[in-house]
Amino acid sequence: MTKLYVFFLVLLTTSVLADIRIIAEGVEPDQVVELERVVEEVGDQFFDLIGIENDSDSGKAAISLHINYSDYELADERLNAGRFKNNWAFSHPAAMESHVALQPPVSMEVLEQVGLPLQTKIQIAHESVHLYFYKAFPNHPSHPDWLSEGVAVYVAERSIRSLGAMGPAEAEPWTSTEIVRVQKMFKNYPEMTIDSILAGSIEDVSSLTMYALHGLFIGWLDEIGAAEKILQEARRFGGGSKYAQNLSSAVVEAIESAGIDDPDATFRAWVNGFEPQWEEVYRSMQTSNDEWMHAAFASKNAICWNQEPLGEGDWAITGSLYVFNTGRSQMNILLGRSTDGFVTVACSGDWGVTIFNYTSKDNNWNRLEVVEVPTMKFGRWIKFKISKRGNRLWVRMGKQRAFKVEIGDLDLSGQWGLGVQKGSAGIWKDVQVDR
Ligand SMILES: [Zn+2]
Repeated sequence: MTKLYVFFLVLLTTSVLADIRIIAEGVEPDQVVELERVVEEVGDQFFDLIGIENDSDSGKAAISLHINYSDYELADERLNAGRFKNNWAFSHPAAMESHVALQPPVSMEVLEQVGLPLQTKIQIAHESVHLYFYKAFPNHPSHPDWLSEGVAVYVAERSIRSLGAMGPAEAEPWTSTEIVRVQKMFKNYPEMTIDSILAGSIEDVSSLTMYALHGLFIGWLDEIGAAEKILQEARRFGGGSKYAQNLSSAVVEAIESAGIDDPDATFRAWVNGFEPQWEEVYRSMQTSNDEWMHAAFASKNAICWNQEPLGEGDWAITGSLYVFNTGRSQMNILLGRSTDGFVTVACSGDWGVTIFNYTSKDNNWNRLEVVEVPTMKFGRWIKFKISKRGNRLWVRMGKQRAFKVEIGDLDLSGQWGLGVQKGSAGIWKDVQVDR
């Protein structure tokens, strides 16, 4: 009887507090509750950042999570004539609806065993920020990207982190990669200023880098104590052609009254002060738990580079891997990133290991060794150890005797990384490098 009572209490609590309805067909009820908590936390953080009460009527705002990409496409066709096909997520102010496709698109087996991917949770949080903006800011159609996307990125990440689903900014591949992107951008564009962010005049930069830059910019404004004032002004101004200009002046003023003498240099130094640990070339790996779920989209191999090079001399990488059976499943341990390429230890889910040397100049995968490993099966933990001793690699999978791979004069002193083949999903555990 007590159990039943608690159950109803929980149900009631979430449906009353959640400001935005979650529609997620085919998703386990406890995972839907998890998303309701995400949206609720985003609401708290969003209104806390602005320093106002969340007193707006919850209305009919809803976020749909689509397990099948084709359902997302239908929603995009219905509301945007297919304009956001490649976005995998969008929000629609008139309909007060957001739609998010499961990303990366993992199988039901993965969903049941490890839950919703972090990337999906971040995207749900991100779109819910847009819905809160629509509700609380009548002038939202005039918002420049640095404001709408910057706040969405910043509040979404802060919320997911405070719920414990994401590690510190420098340690979690998702946020760490954003820092790497902006640090690289600063190197390539020494002339970039806060004015150019406000004017939206930065060119030749990928949209992913712009999201990252805008998110970090809002984070910095919050750090120096200027964000609340700016957001309150952003809410006060009437929309229209003067909006962006008025807002820019408010930003400059708020930074000045925060006592920042050289804003461009201070912002740059703040971003450069982070020590990011991972760079994900293609998503998506999550490291907040002991078990690191790693899944790839159907068309790209997921690649995540650790930022600390293996270094000259000998080293060993140890850990365990678990490959889900998705038909074409393979997990990769990557060694010695350089401009010339890298070496990959490709672990195919149900038969064995192939070692390749990838050379970038001719985009070629040169096979160094192929070894069958009878104990390798889908859905089973396999321990691995890869050691470099002079001009040889020693590779041990499971209980099988280690085999050697001649690497000649290949330079493997660069970064190491983890990857999963396109369409694959797996889990890494206790991955460690001894130098
Ligand atoms: Zn957005």
